[in-house]
This record gives sequence, structure tokens and C-alpha cells, in this order.
Amino acid sequence: MFCAGERHKAGSPGFRRVFGVAGERQGVGLRRRKGVWRKGQEERVKGMEKILVVVDMQNDFVDGALGTKEAVEVVDRVAAKIEGFEGRIFATLDTHEQNYLDTAEGRRLPVPHCIRGQKGWELNGKVLSALEKKGYTAVEKGTFGSVKLAGLIGEIAEAEAGGICVELVGLCTDICVVSNALLLKAYFPETDIAVDSMCCAGVTPKTHEAALETMGMCQIDVR
Ligand SMILES: [Zn+2]
Repeated sequence: MFCAGERHKAGSPGFRRVFGVAGERQGVGLRRRKGVWRKGQEERVKGMEKILVVVDMQNDFVDGALGTKEAVEVVDRVAAKIEGFEGRIFATLDTHEQNYLDTAEGRRLPVPHCIRGQKGWELNGKVLSALEKKGYTAVEKGTFGSVKLAGLIGEIAEAEAGGICVELVGLCTDICVVSNALLLKAYFPETDIAVDSMCCAGVTPKTHEAALETMGMCQIDVR
């Protein structure tokens, strides 16, 4: 019986044929920058229910406790993306309680952030007003990936005969965007899942790029 896992293990001829050797791997980035979609993909998404997931565009990740200049730079693009989007929109909210420092995440990242009810927990103002204009569903999550989000998207997938396609934007590329993209890929392996690299920012530019490459390898369409 054909076993994809064995045939494509790292270093095997099959793996090299599909993904290229180290030097060629940069081609993944080149394809992304040119914005080339797989053949037939645009045809296929016609008639599908489009879903946009806006990940953790909260003050603490933009210009608060864990903010970065790259995150500030994507705010306008994310707001424009939301305003131009035709489909269902979910916005995730990283949500911690007062005991954050006593949690597993807090022990490894001892920077209190997104404490429920505080300013840092709230969505960035520009993003929020775009979301309010279009209508959205907020999904609070206590850790990186949201199983609840997958459940809500699953309900839409069941109801939509034409299928669904999902696009993710937001913060941080290398933690919560990648976690949710791969979680959704696990729940919906036959669904087109994309990430808009221009509407994401990572903890550092380097880890942002690394996460995009990881997602590309896991068949997330990196645009
Ligand atoms: Zn957190």
C-alpha cells in the first residue's frame, strides 16, 4: 500500500522531487511573491462560501505589550482587506485572565497581555471599525489555536453545499496564524486554506518568513 509519509520523508528522492532541495526551496517564496495560484484554483472557489479569519488584531499585539513596528504596518492593510471582503468574517481574540503568569503560556512568556477587559485585549480601533461595518463573529481563545473556531467553521461547511474556502490574516504569523492555519487544515483537509502574507506580521521578520515557509510546505496557499 502506498504510504505518503514514508515516500516523502525528508531526504528521500520523492521528497526532493516534490519540494526541491534546500537551495530550490527559495522558489516557494518566489512563487508566493508573484501571487501565482495553482491552476484551476480561481475557478474552483467560485460558488464557495468565503471565510476570513482575522487573528488576534488586538492592541497588545499591535502597539501594546507585545507590539512590533511590523504589526503596526499591517493594520491599514488588514482593515482594507476586511472592508473589501465578501463573505463571513471571524475575529479571534487572545484572551487571558488575571492569573496569566501562573499559566503554562505565562511561565514561558512572562509578559502579561490580552487580559480580558483591559485595553490591550481590545481589538485595534481601525480593525474594529472595519469589522463592525461588515459584521463579524468574535471568537475568544485561551491559547494559540482555537478548536472553537474550527467548530464554527465546520457548521458553515456543513450548511454550504458549494463548499467553503478560508483565508487568514493577522498576528502573529509565527504563533497564532500558523497554529490556526494548520489546525484548520487538519479539520478540513479538502478545503482551500490561504494566508495573506501582506496582512500578517510575526514576532520578528525572520520568524514571519519562516512561518510562511512552514505553511507553504503544509499546503496552505501563501499569497
Ligand atoms: Zn497569549
